[in-house]
Amino acid sequence: KGPDPDLVGIAERMATVKHKILVLSGKGGVGKSTFSAQLAFALAAKDFQVGLLDIDICGPSIPKMLGLEGQEIHQSNLGWSPVYVESNLGVMSIGFMLPNPDEAVIWRGPRKNGIIKQFLKDVYWGELDFLVVDAPPGTSDEHISIVQFLQATGIDGAIIVTTPQQVSLIDVRKEVSFCKKVGLQVLGVVENMSGLCQPVSDFKFMKVTETGEQRDVTEWAIKCMREKAPEMLDLVVFDSSGGGAAKMCSEMGVPFLGKVPLDPRLCKAAEEGRSCFDDSKCGLSASALQRIIDKL
Ligand code: ADP
Repeated sequence: KGPDPDLVGIAERMATVKHKILVLSGKGGVGKSTFSAQLAFALAAKDFQVGLLDIDICGPSIPKMLGLEGQEIHQSNLGWSPVYVESNLGVMSIGFMLPNPDEAVIWRGPRKNGIIKQFLKDVYWGELDFLVVDAPPGTSDEHISIVQFLQATGIDGAIIVTTPQQVSLIDVRKEVSFCKKVGLQVLGVVENMSGLCQPVSDFKFMKVTETGEQRDVTEWAIKCMREKAPEMLDLVVFDSSGGGAAKMCSEMGVPFLGKVPLDPRLCKAAEEGRSCFDDSKCGLSASALQRIIDKL
């Protein structure tokens, strides 16, 4: 039996891609797509040629997070063309192929594997420094296929996104053990929604009355602050409790890449399809990005 023609096709297509990074998470909703999007933005801001491939077939949120909702994929004689945010940032997502974004995609394993294979084989990326692949959450059959497909062409490794909570950290252990089993290097773990980063002036202050009711006293509280201690209004509330991921990483012998706080500005940027990297207080910090690049 000769070599699998699909794997040969993928290897040919990926020959122009220098680095491939798979972004994984144990659970949904921990910020994996947000991180993938911000990583792609941040690498592109460093003038790298970047591709972002969204294979989270059941919940493709990448088009929205990159401000590309409603865009369509075009075919050329070289293959499917990605949708470009900037000339050095191209995006491909199943979301571009769905007629209605509200529609649920209910596909069985073989069909999902088929489309993932096609994405890897048929998208014309051209020369890329980085291909960031946003995978579905968990460790399913799809993950084994993705890793197999990418391993045929050489993949750098995986970044695992988690929240500080134990429920998410338990799943990270599973992700790490999955990576070890399939021979995929863990580039590191990112703790997302770790602590809160918000200026005091954005808070709503509530006073609980004797009858247990909550009364909005924001105006009064802000007025007091403005009069007595105006510098307080610029303070940022940051609770760095948690931090379970760093400890878990040292126990499991995998690198810890850093923390991203829960930050309303990052949430808003994701909603509006913008980069939040410029704002040094949130998003992906420059030092965390450098740690990722240094590992490749
Ligand atoms: P996943 O890909 O893991 O399912 P998403 O990236 O879709 O998760 O994130 C889920 C929601 O949480 C999104 O609305 C996103 O904007 C928000 N979010 C993710 N990370 C942060 C953060 N650090 N601060 C604030 N909001 C965040």
